[in-house]
Amino acid sequence: MKLPRFEIHRPTSFADASRLLVELGDDAVAVNGGTELLLTMKLGLAVYDHLVDLKRVPELRVLARSGDRLAIGAGMTHREVETSPLVRESFPALAAMLADVANVRVRSVGTLGGNLCFADPHSDPATFLAATDAVVVTGGGGGARRVPVGQFAVGPYETVLESGELLAEIEVPLPGPGTGVSHVRMKTHERPTVTVASRVELSAGVVVAARVAVGSVCSVPVVPDTVSDLIGAAREDWDARVAACAAATADAVDPVEDADGSTAYKRALVEVFVRRGLHRALASAASSGAAGRSTR
Ligand SMILES: Cc1cc2nc3c(=O)[nH]c(=O)nc-3n(C[C@H](O)[C@H](O)[C@H](O)COP(=O)(O)OP(=O)(O)OC[C@H]3O[C@@H](n4cnc5c(N)ncnc54)[C@H](O)[C@@H]3O)c2cc1C
Repeated sequence: MKLPRFEIHRPTSFADASRLLVELGDDAVAVNGGTELLLTMKLGLAVYDHLVDLKRVPELRVLARSGDRLAIGAGMTHREVETSPLVRESFPALAAMLADVANVRVRSVGTLGGNLCFADPHSDPATFLAATDAVVVTGGGGGARRVPVGQFAVGPYETVLESGELLAEIEVPLPGPGTGVSHVRMKTHERPTVTVASRVELSAGVVVAARVAVGSVCSVPVVPDTVSDLIGAAREDWDARVAACAAATADAVDPVEDADGSTAYKRALVEVFVRRGLHRALASAASSGAAGRSTR
């Protein structure tokens, strides 16, 4: 495996990065950590004459709280977000999810933006961020958009981004009191086989909001409307309602057969992981009363 020759450009502003990509057209591509792109090029699956390196673009290196949201620059590495005191304090479940991605070497160079833009169907952050109503902010190439993470990937390795348009920031709503978020997953190969993220909100012990995202089994993460039956459930109803929601979710998703398993096997995994994930989110919500207790 040999990396083909290319010219590297190192813009120092978002505007310059985007301008370069527009000027160089189809011969150019953005790169950040390079953990996906360089491998793809080494394998001969993609050829580019120009790489626009985003690592020196300050606008992509943001990590801040703004009211009830976190703003995470697309160029922040998994490890920087995972170990940030701000994230650990304000959204520990997000830090815990990122701690499960790949290994520390990949997390130290691979970025959150690179993960979402590569749109590998087997993604932890894409699933988690879809369940938690996160939004991506794009810019450049004539675009400046806010797109829910759940609508960002439109197929395997394909996003809504247009030519010259870059992912700038990910906006993550912080969980309020009484909210529990869980991320459960299993992997048999390098990437996860199944990822399920759940978010539930309790008021006076009763479920008032519930959402689940299922990833890594289909071509893109999905947020099926199959857990609304949990709404209104008090603790004594949780077991039966969670079991019914998990079965309905397994029926609703459309898994893709691949090296990780058959569609029937993946449906069975979805049922088990939705059940597990919802119970963890409920337990977390019940015991916290405080923002976003971390569960795995
Ligand atoms: C061994 C291994 C194990 C892994 N395990 C997991 C796992 O368990 N769970 C999981 O979720 N992921 C896993 N991954 C994927 C990993 O998270 C990604 O490789 C990493 O996040 C990609 O980030 P990057 O900065 O290296 O992207 P790059 O390789 O630099 O870029 C990837 C793609 O995104 C585009 N891009 C990057 N930034 C932007 C931007 N700001 N705007 C527009 N386009 C952009 C590039 O053009 C390219 O097409 C694994 C990867 C490896 C190599």
